[in-house]
Amino acid sequence: MSKIKVAELFYSIQGEGRFMGVPSVFLRTFGCNFKCAGFGMPRGELSTEADEIATIVQHYNKYEELPLVATGCDSYASWHPSFKDLSPMLTSDAIVERIMEILPYKTWLDEHLVITGGEPLLGWQRAYPDLLSHEYMKPLKEITFETNGTQKLTDDFKEYLLDWAGSGLTNRGITFSVSAKLSCSGEKREEAIRPDIVCEYQELGYTYLKFVVATEDDAYEALEVSDIYRLAGFEGPIYLMPVGGVESVYTLNNRRVAELAMKAGLRYSDRLQVPLFKNEWGT
Ligand code: SF4
Repeated sequence: MSKIKVAELFYSIQGEGRFMGVPSVFLRTFGCNFKCAGFGMPRGELSTEADEIATIVQHYNKYEELPLVATGCDSYASWHPSFKDLSPMLTSDAIVERIMEILPYKTWLDEHLVITGGEPLLGWQRAYPDLLSHEYMKPLKEITFETNGTQKLTDDFKEYLLDWAGSGLTNRGITFSVSAKLSCSGEKREEAIRPDIVCEYQELGYTYLKFVVATEDDAYEALEVSDIYRLAGFEGPIYLMPVGGVESVYTLNNRRVAELAMKAGLRYSDRLQVPLFKNEWGT
């Protein structure tokens, strides 16, 4: 039976993108190919690891005890090696059992499954078929993969997803929510912007881009990068979303980013988990 290293598994509402407001189970896998140390840092002052995360050195036993950060990746504990012991390796049966416990009616109704990270399309692709094929997962109608858009899908997984989405009268939907990283993330353009890979996702499901921005420069870069995706054949919608894993940073940015999105003719995505739940772990 397949196993997945699970950073978090919780029930909340989707705060971002296409399914904002939809009740959702979030499966946060452990591991990421990036660090995104640049978020919240002044341009040109990037280190290899956000200083704030590097200072969180003491031992934590639970996610709920971890501090929120204003710089770097706000889900740092889902990939940072210092916190790997907080993420158990669970069998697909154990994951399904936990999902049934947290769903309000102990089965899927209108809820949606969000597979997020970290980067959920790393090696865990091989484990999802076992999980999604479980008998109790059959009523599930919608999955979103929240990805940074740099991981190719394996042929086996592509075939599985096509079959999952197209099986009979179930009318199931797959969404790829691609948070491609701009230079404010601190990641290298050639590694972060992979239109060849994102164009493959759109052959399998509804695919959109979501750029995290703080400044007008970021918004202009998002437009420039959008052109790269468009030239490669990307056809989906494009969102701008304010940076801000803590409320003080988010409220400085949200209205300005909405205005920048309007000016650029792009969509605006909020991050409702910040004003509603203060972006606490498990929300
Ligand atoms: S890609 Fe996402 S999870 Fe990975 S470091 Fe960047 S923000 Fe964090």
